[in-house]
Formats: sequence, C-alpha cells, structure tokens
Amino acid sequence: MRIILLGPPGGGKGTQAKFLEERLHIPPISTGDMLREAKKEGTALGQKAAGFMSEGKLVPDDLVIALIEERLKKKDSHDGFILDGFPRTVTQAQALGKMLVEKNLKIDAVVNFKVPDEVVVQRLSGRGTCSTCGLVYQRMGICDRCGGALVQRDDDKKETVQKRLQVYHEQTRPLIKYYKGQGVLREIEGVGSPKEILGRCLKALGVKDSLAS
Ligand code: ADP
Ligand code: ZN
Repeated sequence: MRIILLGPPGGGKGTQAKFLEERLHIPPISTGDMLREAKKEGTALGQKAAGFMSEGKLVPDDLVIALIEERLKKKDSHDGFILDGFPRTVTQAQALGKMLVEKNLKIDAVVNFKVPDEVVVQRLSGRGTCSTCGLVYQRMGICDRCGGALVQRDDDKKETVQKRLQVYHEQTRPLIKYYKGQGVLREIEGVGSPKEILGRCLKALGVKDSLAS
C-alpha cells in the first residue's frame, strides 16, 4: 500500500507512521527526519536546509523532491511506503505523481488528520523529541525505546510554531482539495489518544484492526 499522511505540524503523523509501519510492514518516510539527519551530518543538503527549518519555513521544493526521488529508489519502498511530511506543496504533489506514473504506480490513500490550531500549539509546546531515535513524547526526560535524551526541537519553540502553522495553512492545506479531486482523500479526527487515532487510521485505510476491542 502507498499511503500519504497529511496534516498540520504536530498533527500526529510521525507517531501514526511508526504504528502503521509495525502493522503494515512498509517503511515510513519522513522528509523532516531525513532533513534533520542531513543537518546533523552537515551534508550540502543539510546546510542548505538548516536556515529554512529553523525559521519554520519550507525547504525549497527542488531539494525535497530530489531527496524523495532518491529515497524511493531504495528497495524497501518498492512494495509500499508511508509518506510523512511529503508532499507539502502542490508542486511536490505533482512531482510525486509524475515519479509514480513513470513506474506505473499510484497512491492508494491520503489520510488527512484534522487537528485544530490550538491543539497543535499545545502539543508542540510540550513535545519532547528523542535526540537519538526521533520518537516523540508529550514530556521531557528519557526515551522509553532507546534511552536517549528527550529534547525540545528547535522549531517547536513558540515563535516558530506560529510560522509553521501559517506555512501549513498557506502551502499545505491546498493538498486536501488536490487529493480530494483525485478521489483518494480520507479524513480523520486527529484529536484523541494515539491508539484511538491508529484505530481511525486503519479504518480509513480499510485495514482490519485486529487489536481493537
Ligand atoms: P512537523 O510535521 O512537525 O512540522 P517535520 O519534521 O515534518 O515537522 O518538518 C520539519 C521541517 O522540515 C519543516 O518545517 C520544513 O522546514 C522541513 N520540511 C520537512 N518536509 C518538508 C517538505 N516536504 N517540503 C519542504 N520542507 C520540508
Ligand atoms: Zn529514542
């Protein structure tokens, strides 16, 4: 299955992408994680992206499109993938569409997480991200999975969150209409516990939720 997770920053896409990986055995692909990794390693891409990211702006389309194009060449994504944080602009969506058409593939579903701005602000202000494995929590301290230190991401600071929300409304929300037009959009309420939201995600994807009571 080829899935796109759409929604505001802090909308829970990353958490659900990891849950869906366990359930569906297809890789989550997060451009945000890949860009943060590039930044950490100090690659040319990382250096170009860093300024945009710390200001809460989008990294230019050509850079992220090239990044995804390379990533989708890897074998692990050939039987499906979960895109988290890409596409984020109509230009990116068109480029993805073109890449897939060339391989005779298509997106099966786009799950849009509906989360109000106030909830986004509240979640991001309390969000701790593992400095080692990237897992996110609604607290600081130590990561349950790997023992890494939970830290506040640079762009989760209050001023930057406002900018990211503005960018989301202006540049990413148009994708809802774009994918609705293609008949693949599924909308879910993004407020609730992570497990509840997973249930909604699986239902939206038409996957049987074997663990639901
Ligand atoms: P969140 O979903 O919490 O906002 P991400 O980890 O997806 O965070 O993205 C963090 C930052 O990385 C974005 O604010 C942006 O600067 C950059 N980024 C990630 N994905 C893209 C993309 N598809 N296009 C442009 N910039 C991106
Ligand atoms: Zn960790």
